[in-house]
This record gives sequence, structure tokens and C-alpha cells, in this order.
Amino acid sequence: MKIRVYQLAKEIGVPSKQLVEELKKLGIDIVSYQSTVDEETADLLRELLKNEPKSEQMSSSTGESESKKENVSSGVSKTEEKPKKLAPKRPPIVTVMGHVDHGKTTLLDAIRRTHVAEKEVGGITQSIGASVAEYKGQKIVFIDTPGHEAFTEMRARGAMVTDIVVLVVAADEGVMPQTVEALNHAKAAGVSIIVALNKMDRPGANPDRVMNQLASMGLIPESWGGDTIYVPVSAIKGEGIEDLLEAILLIADLLDLRGDPKAPLKAYVIESRLDKGRGPLATVVVREGTLHVGDFVVVGTTHGKIRAMFDDKGKSISSVGPSMPAEIMGLEDVPEAGTPVIQVNTQEEAEKLSHGNADEERDKQQKSRKQFSLEEILSRSEEARPVLNIILKADTAGSLEAVQNALLRLEKGEVDLNIIHAGVGAISEGDVILAEASKAIIVGFNVRPVGKTNKLIDEKGIQVLTYRIIYDLVDDVSNMLKGLIKPKEVEVILGHAEVRRTFRVPRVGTVAGCYVTDGKITRNGKVRVLRNGIIVAESGIASLKRFKDDVREVAQGFECGIGLDNFHDIKEGDIFEVYTIQEETA
Ligand code: GDP
Repeated sequence: MKIRVYQLAKEIGVPSKQLVEELKKLGIDIVSYQSTVDEETADLLRELLKNEPKSEQMSSSTGESESKKENVSSGVSKTEEKPKKLAPKRPPIVTVMGHVDHGKTTLLDAIRRTHVAEKEVGGITQSIGASVAEYKGQKIVFIDTPGHEAFTEMRARGAMVTDIVVLVVAADEGVMPQTVEALNHAKAAGVSIIVALNKMDRPGANPDRVMNQLASMGLIPESWGGDTIYVPVSAIKGEGIEDLLEAILLIADLLDLRGDPKAPLKAYVIESRLDKGRGPLATVVVREGTLHVGDFVVVGTTHGKIRAMFDDKGKSISSVGPSMPAEIMGLEDVPEAGTPVIQVNTQEEAEKLSHGNADEERDKQQKSRKQFSLEEILSRSEEARPVLNIILKADTAGSLEAVQNALLRLEKGEVDLNIIHAGVGAISEGDVILAEASKAIIVGFNVRPVGKTNKLIDEKGIQVLTYRIIYDLVDDVSNMLKGLIKPKEVEVILGHAEVRRTFRVPRVGTVAGCYVTDGKITRNGKVRVLRNGIIVAESGIASLKRFKDDVREVAQGFECGIGLDNFHDIKEGDIFEVYTIQEETA
């Protein structure tokens, strides 16, 4: 009987990571925590690790785990330096994404049906936009599928609440355009991805094909040596749901998610509505800290004192901690999804701050938005090397592939190229939102923005470049990669010349008879005309002569005639400071 590494780790009560290390010591290289070991090895590990301190269980998020943790570690020698106390573990927050009709809603329903405790009797039955499942005594928070645009819109506003994305793909249909979009949105957000191969009950289900398709996009299945977990499920029959939850907990364990209930509050609105009886309601998800009934809060342009709070089952609660969702009541107005919730001390403070936010918001809307320049996009890049993020849209799959390949072949210059999303079809609002959240530009080949997208592009200030000729597109991107980071330009003074006499030359203007006091004067230099130390003009050199001959340069100690491009009011005693602009070499 073979047993999976993570299952064995759970059974022994040590982290999977430690088990993998032990296996390494035994000369067994494990590809992933999903890999299996045989019974003999398992026994050996059980024996080896039986005296190890047990790893803590994932605690509920209310902070009562502190004492539990202390008990757990009491077996460890106390003489050692106390390690910095880690915040308690928090449950994973999961968002389900995928192509329309591939079964996202059905999957969430199946999880809710089987792993979410019954709603409170008499409780409010309306969904709050998130639900908390429980599996093997551990909690998993599911955000109701918002669609990848909404997900990215929230991310653009700084509200990153998702830890893991479950990408649902119907095994009979395979990868569809929105699957690719969802995948790229999830990738751009840098979250972990688990693939749910849904509709496995269908006769046409072909999981291998899906794995092939997704592997080519970077999601290599574990069984092929990669690290993406694929879980076959049938949402409609409720099959494979537990495997999916198991996989989520496994990834959560790897991510080692932690949230300090005592830290300053970090919470975001994920949904909001106006209830006839109860007024504005907002569902918030807490990342860190704890939100209590009675707290004064500022939520964007609105504020309030939290009068009541409800969990996902409609049960009234008094506080909510890391990873947990709650619907809050008591705000003056309905806030937008993605808005952060800020705790303040008094009603006055709440009012003042929210009014400040409202003013700011108005200013922002009034200001005509300017496009982010490429330099700005790059300077906002968080990578060590600047990265040009591109969203690529084309009219057909063939042209998309051609453009993509051409771009990928481009030589790297100062800047790395990263195509975060490539898709067929018009430039959409989703593309614009992704561009905003990922600091990307949009490049269209034979496609244009449609409908409301143009307005959104303006609003968000996204740079959109469209082409009809592939070479132009590739050329432009190539130039961006090479030339974007312009070398710093520095001025180098070449020399000075003193004006000793001036001559009027017909059709030419004034020519100055000069003496080069230091350095040299070159024909292609630029001149700053100084009069008593004051710059009276700047000009290029129109002519440089020694006697009657045109020369390229004149050295110190020599006389010469200098005519300027666009300044003729030259006086005896003026000093020509000659300089050139050079690119700074590192
Ligand atoms: P969503 O648009 O991704 O939320 O997809 P839905 O959950 O609404 O499902 C779309 C359709 O597929 C519905 O008719 C579901 O009944 C059906 N469906 C979902 N999951 C399964 C499944 O596992 N097997 C089968 N045969 N049908 C499914």
C-alpha cells in the first residue's frame, strides 16, 4: 500500500516539508507532497520521527490558539533562544474561476452542500458572497465566484484577498478562451492554482487533453513532474470534492498562511448591497487583525460604527479575525467592492477621514487622466530588472501565435518582456483591468477596443498600441525593450572661447572672432553665450573657421571665427562655453 507524502506527514504530525527532507536523507527524492512512498519507507519514517514535536493544527482564526501553541512546543528545550513568534496560521481563501458553464457555481454549491454547516435556524439565508467550509476540522474560505475581471479589478485596488485559485475546466470541453483568461489573471496575481477537472461524469470527458493544454501554459501536472495539482471532480454528482478540499489544504500548508489577529486591521470589502430593512451592508474579508462590533470604521468615502456583524451562515457574531468573512451593518453608504476597511477611534475621525477620501476621489475624477508612460510603467515595476508587461490581443489564433513567437524571439535589451495574457478577440474591459492591475500595456494586432472599453482605457490611463503590420508591432516592441531605459544624459564642457571682435557678414549674420581660452571648440558642439556670467543665449554652431577654412575643431590658444545658428547679437567680451551632451556610461 502506497501512501502520499502529505498524508503520512499528517499522520505522524510533522510538516510535509520535514518529511521530504527526511526522505532526501534516505536518498529518496520526492517530486511533490502528492507523491507516494511505499509501506516500508512509511514505517521507517514513522519510527524515525515518532519523537518529533508535533506540528500545530491549523487553528481557527480567532486568536485563541496561542495557548494551544505553547502546549505544542513545551516538549522542546527551553534553553534555546526563543524564536520570533510567528502569527497563528489562518485558513486559506479560495476563489473559483474558469470558463462560463464549466461548473463554477455547481462546484461551490456541492462544497456548500457537503462541507458547510447548515444555516442557522431563523438566520438570514441570503449569501454574503463568501462561505466557510470545514474539512477534517480545518476551515477553508470560499469567495463566491466573482469572475476574473472582478477579481483583477479588486487586485487593482490593492485588495488581494485570494490565496488559491481553483481553475475549473470542463473535462469534456477542455480549455476555452475564458479558461486562458482566468489562468492569466490568476498567474498575474501570483496566487497558487489548482485545476479542477470538472464534468468527469460526462462520456466525452478527456482529462489528459486538458492536462496537455494547460501544461503548455505552464501548469505541469504533478504526475508529469510538475507541481500543479489536478483534481478530477464531478460537481453535479458531488464526486471528488473531498480530494479537491484535500488539495486546497495541502497547498495552504505549503503556503504557510498566517494572520495575526492582534495586528492592525487589514480588511477589504468583497461585496456590498443595500438592504431595505437593515441599510447598507458590506461583506468584508479580514487579512489581518480583528474587526469588532462597535468599531468605528472608514470604508472609502463612507464610514460608520459597526452595529452588527453576521457570518456566512447569517449568525450574529461579535468579531471577525484573519481570513474570515463577515457581513457588516452600520455603514452610512454602500461601499464599492475592493475598498479597504480602516479602523479608527472615534466617530469624528471616521467622518473626517471619509470626507477626505471623498474629496480625493472627486479630485481624481476631475483630473483628466493621463496615460502612464512606458517609463512610468517600468519604474513602477517591482522586479529587480525592469519588465515590460504586455497584454496581447489578435484577430485570429494564427496571427496571435505568429506575433507571440516573434516577440518571444526578440533579443532582450535593458528590459525583460513578459506577455501576461495573449488572447484572440477585441480589446476588452477585462484586458484593461488586467493591464491596470499588472502595470501592463496592451498591444493589439488587427483588433481594436470595443464598446465601453475606450472609455475605460481613458479612465485608467492605459497605454494601448494597435497595429496592422506585424513587423511594425515587433519593431516597436523591440525598440521599447532596447530604448526604454534611456541612458542618463550628461553635459560635458569642451572648452571656452572669448569673443575679441565681431563682424557682420551679409546673408550669414554676425561672426565672432574668438580666442580659445581653454579646452577646445568643436563644430558639432553646442554653445552657451555668457555675458558677465549670465547666460544670454544657447545655440548650435553654424560655422567654425580658421582663417578662411572650415574646420572641425580649434584647440586652446588658437584664434577662430564662430557663427551661431540662432543668435546674432554677439558682443565683444562674450564668452562662448562649448559643451556636448553625452550618454553616461556606467
Ligand atoms: P458556471 O457558469 O461555471 O458557474 O457553470 P454552472 O455551475 O452554472 O454549470 C453550467 C452547467 O453545467 C449547468 O447546467 C450544470 O448543471 C452543468 N454541470 C456543472 N457541473 C457538472 C458536472 O460535474 N457534470 C455534468 N454533467 N454537468 C455539470
